[in-house]
Amino acid sequence: MAAKIIEGKTIAKEMREEIAKKVAQLATQGVVPGLGVLLVGMDPASISYVTAKEKACAEAGMASFERRLPADSTQEEVLAVVREFNADDKIHGILVQLPLPKHIDERAVIATIAPEKDVDGFTPINVGRMILEESCYVPCTPAGVIEMIKRSGVPTSGVNAVVVGRSNIVGKPLANLLIRKSLNATVTICHTGTKDLPSYTKKADILIACAGRAGLITGDMIKPGACVIDVGVNRVEDPSAAKGFRLKGDVDFDSAAEVAGWISPVPGGVGPMTITLLLANTVEAAARKAGAVSGKA
Ligand code: NAP
Repeated sequence: MAAKIIEGKTIAKEMREEIAKKVAQLATQGVVPGLGVLLVGMDPASISYVTAKEKACAEAGMASFERRLPADSTQEEVLAVVREFNADDKIHGILVQLPLPKHIDERAVIATIAPEKDVDGFTPINVGRMILEESCYVPCTPAGVIEMIKRSGVPTSGVNAVVVGRSNIVGKPLANLLIRKSLNATVTICHTGTKDLPSYTKKADILIACAGRAGLITGDMIKPGACVIDVGVNRVEDPSAAKGFRLKGDVDFDSAAEVAGWISPVPGGVGPMTITLLLANTVEAAARKAGAVSGKA
C-alpha cells in the first residue's frame, strides 16, 4: 500500500484537546458551552449520530440539551422547539438532526434557527456569509475535510480539486471553501449529470467523494499520488456483522490506496471530524456570546 492514511480519528482527538482547553477557559468566566439537540422520529442512524454528538459534548466538558419529538409531530411543534432553543441562554448552538420526517418543511425549520446559534452553518444567512467570506459558521463536514487536508500537509494552492457530489451540506460548501484565495485550488464539481466521471477524477490532485454511493471511486479513477478524501458513509449488507451491515465509503479503499498519495478511511476518517467541528463551532458561539456580554469584540 502506497498511500499515507489520513486518520480523521487522530486529528479529531488532537482538535478535541484544543477544544477542551477553550471550554476550561470559558468555565473561568462561568460559561458552559451548550448544544440544543432536536431529534424528530426514531430513525436508528439519526439516533446513533445524536448519541455520538452528545457523548462528545460531555467528554469536552460541554452541556447538551436534547429534545425528542415523535415522528408524527406537526411543523408548528417542531418550530416551537427551535424557537425555545433560540431563546434559551444556556444554549449557544442548535443542532436539528436531519433528515426530518417528509411532512416537515426542512428549509423552514432550518431558516428558523437564529444565525448566531446556527453551528451547523445551514441557514441561508450563514451560507451567504460563507460565500462572501464573512464571519460565519462553516458546515461541519466540509470544515472537517478542510482541516484534514491542512493538518496532513497536502498542498492546495494551484492544484486541481474534484468534488464528486453537489449537496447543500457537503459538496457545494466544500467546493466554495477550496476556491477561497487562502486555499487557492481550481475546483470541478461532478454530479449525476457528469458525463465520463473518470475523465475528471483522473485529473484530480485532491479528490473528494461525497456522492453516497458505496465504492463509486476505484483505483483506476485516481491520479497517482492524489489526496483522496472519502466522505461517503454507506450501509452495505454483511450477514457476518453483528448488525447485519457494515459501513463502506464512496471509495474502494484497497484499490485506491495502491494509487493515492493520501487517503482517508471509512470509518475513522471524516466522521469523527464532523462531530469535532460541531463542538468547535459551539464553543466559538459561546465565546462570541461571552465576548459580547462582557463587551469584548
Ligand atoms: P446527497 O444529498 O444525496 O448528495 C449526493 C450528491 O452526489 C448529489 O449531488 C448527487 O448528484 C451526487 N451523486 C450521486 N451519485 C453519483 C454518481 N454516481 N456520480 C456522480 N455524482 C453522484 O448526499 P450528502 O448529504 O451530500 O452526503 C453524501 C455522502 O456523505 C453520504 O454517504 C452521506 O452519508 C455522507 N456524509 C457523511 C458525513 C460524515 O460526517 N462522515 C456527513 C454528511 C454526509 P445529483 O445532485 O445529480 O443528484
